[in-house]
Amino acid sequence: MTESTTHPFTNGSVPAARGANADDEPETGITPGGTQGAFRDVLSKDHARRAKAPTHFADMDREERIEAAKAIGLPKFRVDQLARHYYAHFETDVESFTDFPQASREAARHAFFPRLIDEELVQTADNGTTRKTLWKLFDGSRIESVLMKYPSRITLCISSQVGCGMGCPFCATGHLGLTRNLSCGEILEQVRCAANASAGGVFGEPDRLSNVVFMGMGEPMGNYRSVVRAIRQICGEPPTGFGISARNITVSTVGVVPGIRKLIDEKIPVRLAVSLHAPNDELRSTLVPMNKRFNIEQVLDAAHDYYLSSHRRVSIEYALMRGINDQPEHARQLARRLNHYGDDWVHVNPIPLNPIEGSPWTASKPEDEAAFLDILHHAGITATLRDTRGSDIDGACGQLAARHVADQVMGDSGAKGRSGAPRE
Ligand code: SAH
Ligand code: SF4
Repeated sequence: MTESTTHPFTNGSVPAARGANADDEPETGITPGGTQGAFRDVLSKDHARRAKAPTHFADMDREERIEAAKAIGLPKFRVDQLARHYYAHFETDVESFTDFPQASREAARHAFFPRLIDEELVQTADNGTTRKTLWKLFDGSRIESVLMKYPSRITLCISSQVGCGMGCPFCATGHLGLTRNLSCGEILEQVRCAANASAGGVFGEPDRLSNVVFMGMGEPMGNYRSVVRAIRQICGEPPTGFGISARNITVSTVGVVPGIRKLIDEKIPVRLAVSLHAPNDELRSTLVPMNKRFNIEQVLDAAHDYYLSSHRRVSIEYALMRGINDQPEHARQLARRLNHYGDDWVHVNPIPLNPIEGSPWTASKPEDEAAFLDILHHAGITATLRDTRGSDIDGACGQLAARHVADQVMGDSGAKGRSGAPRE
């Protein structure tokens, strides 16, 4: 792997900031008046070529499916049949549906199951228990997802956007900028493929995909509508969804407060994870540009309200960066801020930073990690150090696609990995 000193994706600078919403549908309104505000989306140089993915079964509600079926001369009950194949058996190859009329298979495949994600590269690590897939999309964009086998569960980390516009400087996806939102179908297809692979024994014995985390590329709250539609289909019971318990789904956000508040109203008991990374606004604003839009107090207020309404403990994500946010005073300040809201409402997940090439930040020393955890524990806060699954394969989501882009631009990125998976 060749080393580079300038930033591999941008020749040393983050792409020009421009205000824009990530889609033409109204989302959570992260960037109204984006060019004037304190926070601006970072758009990829490719963002202008974004196009909508072909409409897929997962993008349609029942009425739309019935309409689409009618258009190809199929009665309503055929839609339910397709739903059973899709959600209960993870199948999209209509040609092989022996219970489906031969003459309509091609038309049904075309109308309902366009190929949205194509496996381009699979890398494995951790003795085969981590599998990272780079997917190529219909417009040539790349995203990735990571499947991780643990003793008692299989967790999939998925992407919600192509790149990300939030611009966190320590994150490989952030350096890519935002190209476009994923469609609901593109999000759900990552889940279906992983569920199918798990059932097919990708880790040895046939097993069940049990957990899904939105910790891959992108900011889920920036693609709110498609993310929530996908969540409903991940947790619905077959034949309306894959039957993965909402309690086993985690939505991670950089702290988009209106998104958190909308999610409260959905009343789906998913776990909320908030990427805090710093205990005070001055520091957080340097690590998470979005903090200039929604500060720590606003983010924690919303996170605590989420806890109150969902009765689900909120996860606080905290990437430990050497000498930056990993000192005892940071841990004490974090504990004070969290305890301000009461006991037992959060779980802190510090993760050693996986540095990306060209970034001034690096991972904490193990003794600083241990001291950080100790202080939180003594303050009565539950905290578990996250593992860094797949750090030898450019880690988890964002980094492999980032590398792909860098490979195209200048040969190699040197991006290192991270993982969004809690230890078991
Ligand atoms: N955009 C969302 C979800 C995707 S990022 C969010 O920021 O929460 C998933 C997690 O990976 C976040 O907690 C993010 O801060 C963290 N992360 C990003 N780059 C990282 C790196 N280089 N090392 C460790 N964690 C990283
Ligand atoms: Fe986007 Fe999350 Fe990366 Fe920040 S950490 S740039 S919000 S993917």
